[in-house]
Amino acid sequence: MTPPAPPRDRLRVAIQKSGRLGDPARELLASCGLTWRESRDRLFCYGESLPVDLLLVRDDDIPGLIADGVCDLGIVGRNVLVEHGLAHAAQGRGVELTEWRQLGWGACRLDVAIAEGDEWVGPEQLTGLRIATSYPHTLGRWLTEQGVDAEPVLLNGSVEIAPRLGQADVVCDLVSSGGTLRANQLKPVTTILESEAVIAGPRAQLDDGRQEIADLLIRRLDGAVQLKEARLLMLRADRGVLDEVLPLLPGGHEPTVTAVEGRDEVAIQMLVHGPISWAKLEDLKQVGAHNLLVLPVEGMLA
Ligand code: ATP
Ligand code: ZN
Repeated sequence: MTPPAPPRDRLRVAIQKSGRLGDPARELLASCGLTWRESRDRLFCYGESLPVDLLLVRDDDIPGLIADGVCDLGIVGRNVLVEHGLAHAAQGRGVELTEWRQLGWGACRLDVAIAEGDEWVGPEQLTGLRIATSYPHTLGRWLTEQGVDAEPVLLNGSVEIAPRLGQADVVCDLVSSGGTLRANQLKPVTTILESEAVIAGPRAQLDDGRQEIADLLIRRLDGAVQLKEARLLMLRADRGVLDEVLPLLPGGHEPTVTAVEGRDEVAIQMLVHGPISWAKLEDLKQVGAHNLLVLPVEGMLA
């Protein structure tokens, strides 16, 4: 038995060293006010503004590092997290990791793709075929759900050329635009997993000071994610048209309506999540609103 890890008072977050999720993950953490000092080998970043250190690794290693307690949290694609969980479960080990947050970027799908010229009638046509994939457990679960008996062929890269090389009949691979598949004369026919970047972490609470740091980080993250889309809408209107203006305001937080000193006018201000269209501003102006302003939001703490 391994001895219990000594308590730690710094949080360790694993992110992808390079690749699609590395830079956005760093930017997200930086937007939470984190700053780091990088080690010479660029594998470890020591957190300066908060006790949050980064470990820069291959994305496939992230779930294992958290499961083994080397890291506390990680930013990784759901596809990698799900595959790791199913692989663990297949060995009779419990699924101990979970998605703490979905981040809304890094979107892709795990799709089954067949030859461009072939017709797709349904999953049953995969019976007996060899399916090249880097996600054998996720594919296996889906095949079981569909009641289809096919043979996943594990490849750790260049899955899409496997049919041309005779290694497999069809593929099950990550797709975002579909360009790579098309370039290999393949077409996606069915989606087995919708993925995006997530914060992965243990199902259980951390049992020392790290939980408090994690709570603080997640609070800032939630703010940062909301902030990216947030706008402050400001406008003025005569009191007489207020009943027409209020129903036209976009969805969002409750508007603050304030009297304007010395005038029969009000100033309205509200926080909106998401863009505000020109058409919306023109509708408001049409019923008598004026001095309309849409401002980006730099910081927010509810
Ligand atoms: P590493 O060296 O870290 O193992 P990798 O080649 O496995 O890198 P990337 O290609 O950078 O990883 O992909 C990382 C993650 O980006 C994927 O696991 C997936 O969640 C997400 N992703 C988004 N769009 C795509 C796409 N079109 N193809 C592959 N992955 C995508
Ligand atoms: Zn990888």
